[in-house]
Amino acid sequence: MLYNYGSINIDYVYRVSHLVRPGETLSSQSLTQVLGGKGANQSLAMARADGDVTHWGRVSQNDRWVLEILAQAGVNTSAIELTADASGHAIIQVDDHAENAIILYPGANHGFSERHLDALMPSVSPDDWLLLQNECNALENVMALASHHGMRIAFNPAPLGANVHSLPLELCQILFLNRGEAAALAGLDEHAGADELMEVLSRRLPKVELVLTLGRDGVRYQHGAQRLELPAFPVEAVDTTAAGDTFIGYFMAARQRSEPIETCLHEASIAAALCVQRAGAAPSIPLANEVAATSRD
Ligand code: ADP
Repeated sequence: MLYNYGSINIDYVYRVSHLVRPGETLSSQSLTQVLGGKGANQSLAMARADGDVTHWGRVSQNDRWVLEILAQAGVNTSAIELTADASGHAIIQVDDHAENAIILYPGANHGFSERHLDALMPSVSPDDWLLLQNECNALENVMALASHHGMRIAFNPAPLGANVHSLPLELCQILFLNRGEAAALAGLDEHAGADELMEVLSRRLPKVELVLTLGRDGVRYQHGAQRLELPAFPVEAVDTTAAGDTFIGYFMAARQRSEPIETCLHEASIAAALCVQRAGAAPSIPLANEVAATSRD
């Protein structure tokens, strides 16, 4: 089983003529409400990749529609807690030049308590994976508990914050990093090369499998002496939102099926290449049969 201790966000997207100025009251031309959050996106990606996935999360009891979307995609939502506190959400202004301004409220995503975590863990078995991102609270406790229960931990420290530096990263089996996250974690400049990033991080975390995604430059993998490099598929990108989430979801689903690392990287790269050719976040995450069809081409 793939467990995902992940954020659920609702994105409220307001179209405006210009981004609101201090003291101004501005009418919006339209409002769209969509499911978001790295946690929910990665659960959707794992489910679309035919993974066996259970989402551990929290969302307001007023937003049950979110559970329906996840369940329709095949995510087990029985461990999602319906809360009295507001759902995590983003208030996003998008102006006529596609410029945006975002207010993020973590809400229920930051309301996990020890009681909740203790109740979740006894259902797991040592073969299970736990995937985490950096949008929920209590990550340190979750990592320690999951490790205690023998779970294999995969962590995507996104968005990267100061808290990540004090997490027990050596407990992780896999770290998924993009270039910016890798540089921040390695204490290097954001323009540092992939070789240097991998060298610093693998020296610091020699037992951890490092997956470094490099956008259109593809992906690097390193685990001890094993090093792999895969170019990205040459496609015309229209919107790279959720590319990383898609990559991670497909990688984890293949990994759960015990595929070789090369296959995990290959399927994840195809899925992410399909994702960047489509607009939007969750709707742009491809289905397993689309990835399989592209792989055969
Ligand atoms: P994030 O979205 O987390 O910043 P990346 O930008 O590294 O992550 O993208 C994740 C993966 O998505 C890449 O490793 C690659 O496989 C794929 N990808 C991203 N941008 C492109 C692109 N322009 N063309 C093809 N594949 C891409």
